[in-house]
Amino acid sequence: MYNIAIDGPAGAGKSTIAKIVAKKLEFIYVDTGAMYRTLALACFRAGISANQEADVIKKCESVTVSLGYEDGTQKVYLNGEDVSSEIRQEEIGNMTSAIAVYAPIRELMVSMQRKLAAENNVVMDGRDIGTVVLPNADLKIYLTASARTRAERRYKELVEKGQECDIDAIEADIKERDYRDMHREIAPLKQADDAELLDSSNMDIDQVVEAIISKVNK
Ligand code: C5P
Repeated sequence: MYNIAIDGPAGAGKSTIAKIVAKKLEFIYVDTGAMYRTLALACFRAGISANQEADVIKKCESVTVSLGYEDGTQKVYLNGEDVSSEIRQEEIGNMTSAIAVYAPIRELMVSMQRKLAAENNVVMDGRDIGTVVLPNADLKIYLTASARTRAERRYKELVEKGQECDIDAIEADIKERDYRDMHREIAPLKQADDAELLDSSNMDIDQVVEAIISKVNK
């Protein structure tokens, strides 16, 4: 199997890029953030807050997260229910990074992710793919962009969806999430030693996609 790992901070464009690369190569796209988000949603719906560690873990161990593909688009299911849209809310994103620090939660997710990569050619994106989940991935990319650029991109996305938002608040959220993801004890976000660094601040989507495809099989 050929495995491509794409890591980087929130809003760097990982999922947009990974989806296109996967389609071009006819690989499966695995959005690991969506998997963690689904667990956060399960807790949120149950009225459990992120700091209630024991309850969070119990809840996450009791639910089923699964992935499916409809017209080539990844869907994520919580106990069989399609929650692909619901997990995109900003408050779920923040809650996700707060529960993603717990070891049992990460173990659950990592074993699912490794199984997917062992059985399929994948483009997998997340925070710890090149460092922890797939240390032997065939190609590792660390995709980043400045916090302001990332905030601007997220702002545009939300405005297009008709959601009201404040760009400074988004940037502050992004920085808070980066900090938490980079400083947690287990599987912190960092560039793997053998990952290629791509800064997309001044690149458009096609340029980033091409940069990645050109590295495949090299
Ligand atoms: O990529 P996305 O914004 O959907 O990820 C949401 C959160 O899930 C991240 O901020 C991070 O805390 C967590 N995450 C993680 N490990 C991954 C993917 C996501 O800890 N492999």
